Amino acid sequence: MAGAYDRDLIGYGANPPDPKWPGGARLAINFVINYEEGSEPSVQDGEGATEIGLTEAHGRGQQVRGRDLAGESMFEYGSRVGFWRLMRVFQARNLPLTIFGCALALERHPPAAAAIRASGFDVCSHGWRWVKHFELSEDEERDHIRKAIRSFETTLGERPVGWYCRYGPSVNTRRLLVEEGGFIYDSDYYGDELPFWKTVDGKPHLIVPYSLTNNDGKYTGTIGTADDWFAFVRDAFDVLYREGATQPKMMSVGLHMRLTGHPARAAGLERLLDYMMQHADIWIARRRDVARHWIATHPYPGKGLNE
Ligand SMILES: [Zn+2]
Repeated sequence: MAGAYDRDLIGYGANPPDPKWPGGARLAINFVINYEEGSEPSVQDGEGATEIGLTEAHGRGQQVRGRDLAGESMFEYGSRVGFWRLMRVFQARNLPLTIFGCALALERHPPAAAAIRASGFDVCSHGWRWVKHFELSEDEERDHIRKAIRSFETTLGERPVGWYCRYGPSVNTRRLLVEEGGFIYDSDYYGDELPFWKTVDGKPHLIVPYSLTNNDGKYTGTIGTADDWFAFVRDAFDVLYREGATQPKMMSVGLHMRLTGHPARAAGLERLLDYMMQHADIWIARRRDVARHWIATHPYPGKGLNE
């Protein structure tokens, strides 16, 4: 038997709330680097195959028996080269950033963990490993969540307060996060442009939606060059900026070290940042700060949206 129908197809509807962004900004923008390299499914970690998702080999159907050393090296490009390039791009512009961090990947790269720690960027847990949570049993998933928290406490000196699964959560994820406690939000949702509250097991829980649209994952499908990507995301920015005169929203932009970390694609990111920075009244913020802002200005109303 399927459970009771629990999807909210309505959301805020025609009249979303005024987010009251700091400084009266007409758009909040959160940039995300997905730090996954080193925690992806691999032969040596027991999955029996090499992950090639979001690399140059993505979708090409390689059927390497055993370890795919080429695929592994394309992931390693992300942690060895791409990470540092993306850090430089943001730090040179004094812009804040959120890391969607996979815990085991940061364990395996102490200099990157130290650089993140020193940067002031916030880390949202992207899982203990870059694996699909909807393929885990409930007990396995609970174990992954706990391992991730303990790992970040060691590598970063603090536990994460946000959560985002690879692609999407299981039907248990949100409840397990609330059960574990200490998380102020999760980003396992693509269906809105503003944060919103839900009630999970009788407790308030904030959702800060993310985007696979304004995302460099498009490079593995429909988008070829940095100019194409720049134009695509710039159009999103332009529309939201115009709408922000009366209905301010939030924009998430997702990046991967093994994709945009390559110079041919980093060029599109630089163009985008420099374009956005020519506009007044935008709030480029860490995801944690967006969540905290929402909690402070739009407290839990006693029940979640449309509950
Ligand atoms: Zn990711």
